[in-house]
Amino acid sequence: MKYCLFNYNGTPHYGLVETVAGREVITRVFVDGGESSLPDEDSRTEKIAHVVLDEARLLAPVSPTKIICVGRNYSEHAKELGNEVPTKLLIFEKPVSTLLAPGEVVVRPKLSQRVDHEAELGVIIGRRCRRLANDEDVRPYIHGYTCVNDVTARDLQKVDDQWTRAKGFDTFCPVGPVVVDQLDPWAGVQVACRVNGEVRQHGTTKDFIFSLGKIIRYIASVMTLVPGDLIATGTPAGVSPMNAGDVCEVEVEGVGILRNTIADE
Ligand code: MG
Repeated sequence: MKYCLFNYNGTPHYGLVETVAGREVITRVFVDGGESSLPDEDSRTEKIAHVVLDEARLLAPVSPTKIICVGRNYSEHAKELGNEVPTKLLIFEKPVSTLLAPGEVVVRPKLSQRVDHEAELGVIIGRRCRRLANDEDVRPYIHGYTCVNDVTARDLQKVDDQWTRAKGFDTFCPVGPVVVDQLDPWAGVQVACRVNGEVRQHGTTKDFIFSLGKIIRYIASVMTLVPGDLIATGTPAGVSPMNAGDVCEVEVEGVGILRNTIADE
């Protein structure tokens, strides 16, 4: 199943996305729950006049209580920033106020001279999750997957001892355009980033240093994950600056393309 959150008749609705005659269109809206409960196969839906996904007014398809990110989960990316390949998981949090819808503008703050893209696979939690057993399968706790751009003020990240500021500006977490439930990151999913059409990042989740199981069990050993929480799983090599006027695209194979433009504050 694939769904988005979009403005329909003036209010946010989750919409079922299907391919019709080669185009992705929203064919139904979810009538259960609304924005606070997650749509799934059992949710009640209603038919609507088809809306082409590219023409819909999309919103961020997640409403997490927290966004937890993995730092340095691809060895080539750790090396490109002059870091050792980690032997321990490193997590940090982005405030939910960073969330940005597909198509909206990432604002480069005046405080930073270098704002980078970080294309990442996003994982959405579907079930309350705390202190899992060491060998417990995490798949039942996953609701779905999406694209995340973990936008980072690289210069501020280097001068601060921790990353709250560098990772935490408003608009620094574009997410979407859709959520899918059928994806197998363990088997390998391509994660890419293009700026103005030029490929800057390209990797596969097969190259994760820490598997998704390890990531979720580790986070859940620290804090309770609740439905809707978002995990950004780290970025492949090739991070680079974005400048005003650029168009940045994050693509996760099987999800789609998350496209945002960049502007100066
Ligand atoms: Mg990142």
